[in-house]
Amino acid sequence: MPEIKRILVTGGAGFLGSHICERLVAEGHDVICLDNFFTSQKSNIVHLLNKPNFELIRHDVTLPIFLEVDQVYHMACPAAPGHYQFNAIKTIKTSVMGSINMLGMAKRCGAKILLASTSEIYGDPEVHPQPESYRGSVNPIGPRACYDEGKRVAETLFMDYHRQNKVNIRIVRIFNTYGPRMHPYDGRVVSNFIRQAITGKDITIFGDGSQTRSFCYRDDLVEGIIRTMNAPDSFIGPVNIGNPGEFTIGELAEMVIKQTGAASKIVNRPLPQDDPTRRRPDITLAKEKLQWQPKIPLQEGLQKTIDWFKSIDLSNYRPPTPNYV
Ligand code: NAD
Ligand code: UDP
Repeated sequence: MPEIKRILVTGGAGFLGSHICERLVAEGHDVICLDNFFTSQKSNIVHLLNKPNFELIRHDVTLPIFLEVDQVYHMACPAAPGHYQFNAIKTIKTSVMGSINMLGMAKRCGAKILLASTSEIYGDPEVHPQPESYRGSVNPIGPRACYDEGKRVAETLFMDYHRQNKVNIRIVRIFNTYGPRMHPYDGRVVSNFIRQAITGKDITIFGDGSQTRSFCYRDDLVEGIIRTMNAPDSFIGPVNIGNPGEFTIGELAEMVIKQTGAASKIVNRPLPQDDPTRRRPDITLAKEKLQWQPKIPLQEGLQKTIDWFKSIDLSNYRPPTPNYV
């Protein structure tokens, strides 16, 4: 029987956070989900609310909070470009002040804390594929900087709390992840293409579609994150968790059209500033230290995601409200 732990999941109502909560509740842990619902909705966790080992707190991580926990999955942060650029200053505050508040709490209660970092810390990479040793190429004054630099500072804070205060940390660099419960209006490429295809709209490729991304299905990702948290204390990361299968955005559009059977046509829109030209994780470290590698190929994961998009009522989902501060 595994030891029951008190586990906090910040951003626990979000796409990835809700799946982590679900898994930890099923394992019998005492789970606290903390979220301000900026980019998520209660429907992601409503099925957990009647579980005796699940608790929901509406709170913003930029403000301190005092809880007694054994582990923290620090996932809170808007992740899609449209969401994190909606209020760029708030995004930086969420990464920086949120991390300081959670690290302070972890230090006080002696909790182990994991940061959901990102492949965006590599920016528009000159090294391909990207190993953890690559220091990245981020434009510090561009429209993506609030997210990229916020996460880079969060990584720095995690390392400094570890070195200075002996906080037991883990850092995971997550590459583009998709699957059921992604916000249908988050503006990310997988959600846009599927929503556009199943509603008979044009599929919007930004630029000429030759830029690449590597897409990881959410179950593989959650497994990688949980393995990192439970790795021996000698392994704190940073570790890349992502699927090394690399696709152009044009190829993704063709796959979505084929798998949905949509009659949509492809239209080209301007490429956003600083859009990375290519991205692919080097997962050697995850294989060696965590015995982890993704199992679900894009075609299979896309089908599960398409089926989920078809099963939901899109009118229940809204982009973040304009008066959000
Ligand atoms: P998401 O937007 O679905 O989840 C983020 C959650 O954090 C939401 O529930 C949101 O309401 C909450 N949140 C945002 N700001 C908050 C604040 N100030 N206080 C409290 N809660 C707040 O996104 P996701 O895809 O589930 O991403 C989860 C984490 O993983 C993020 O930290 C993101 O940066 C990281 N990540 C995700 C991806 C990906 O492809 N999905 C890639 C790299 C990194
Ligand atoms: N993209 C696109 N059409 C869309 C949404 C996104 O062509 O409707 C492109 C975007 O320009 C980028 C890639 O798809 O090159 C991935 O975008 P996303 O916002 O999903 O993630 P990120 O750029 O943060 O990796």
